[in-house]
Amino acid sequence: MSQIIDGKELARNIRLALKDEVNELKNADIHPKLAVVMVGDDKASKIYVRNKSKACEEIGIEYEEYLLPEKTKMSELLELIEKLNNDESVYGILVQSPLPDGLDTNEAFQAISPQKDVDGFHPINIGKLSLNQDCFVSCTPYGIIKMLEAYNIPIEGARAVIIGRSNIVGKPLAKCLLNKNATVTVCHSKTKNIKEITKQADILVAALGKPKFVTQDMVKEGATVIDVGINRMDDGKLVGDTDFENLKEKVAYITPVPGGVGPMTIAMLMYNVVKAAKHQ
Ligand code: NAP
Repeated sequence: MSQIIDGKELARNIRLALKDEVNELKNADIHPKLAVVMVGDDKASKIYVRNKSKACEEIGIEYEEYLLPEKTKMSELLELIEKLNNDESVYGILVQSPLPDGLDTNEAFQAISPQKDVDGFHPINIGKLSLNQDCFVSCTPYGIIKMLEAYNIPIEGARAVIIGRSNIVGKPLAKCLLNKNATVTVCHSKTKNIKEITKQADILVAALGKPKFVTQDMVKEGATVIDVGINRMDDGKLVGDTDFENLKEKVAYITPVPGGVGPMTIAMLMYNVVKAAKHQ
């Protein structure tokens, strides 16, 4: 029987600690502010943005939202980002992805000042993460590391396997785990015999966006399983990328969906905004 990693509770504790830090900053007349830019009206993005605004409100971080129409031109988006880069009252900038077709997500991320890049997607922050230097670490990988540490799950020397190589989850997480001395393998859609690889994992991270992809026969007894996936089923229910109910009989630790990685991602975004305010 496994221990369920309670991301919700951990995230609540992180937010509580951040609230105190924000109060201290405010006493020093520093008022952390996050600016969120959203283009179009993607349904899932709207929910994520609302959750981020709620977290800011709870912690005392000022929050500004820029909702641009679907037909926004790249030049208009870049102009807004530049304006926010130059606004001294804004400490963190986030461009919500996905952007509508025709807009270049990478170009938008690169336009954000690296000092305000609280999502950690700017090439400078990604490069620094590769060099194991202090930087803004993207929030989902950072949240996963914090969860492993909070539950005293050894990373050093562990065999870690990540399914998914996206720029926002899989790749930065691989760097984070490598920086903490895990031996890391990254699987993707072209990986052959994936089960043979996942079965070797002490820490298995599923970040591919395929409901219940990881089944009991793919994991080693006593492994730790981190489920990043958020998949909305036809009945409206959210499920992860793992077969949670069957896996929990076999593994040592597992994260639920919802209530696992999701809340930690938002908590680490708040952490990065506070860090940005302290640094600037
Ligand atoms: P993504 O950009 O779509 O990337 C998916 C990755 O999975 C790709 O690298 C893809 O391989 C790989 N993949 C797809 N099918 C596969 C298969 N059958 N076998 C092995 N690998 C396969 O996704 P993402 O943005 O990283 O997100 C992944 C999931 O996490 C989604 O459900 C998303 O909603 C969720 N998510 C959750 C949070 C959170 O806070 N909880 C944050 C971000 C994302 P290729 O590269 O070869 O195409």
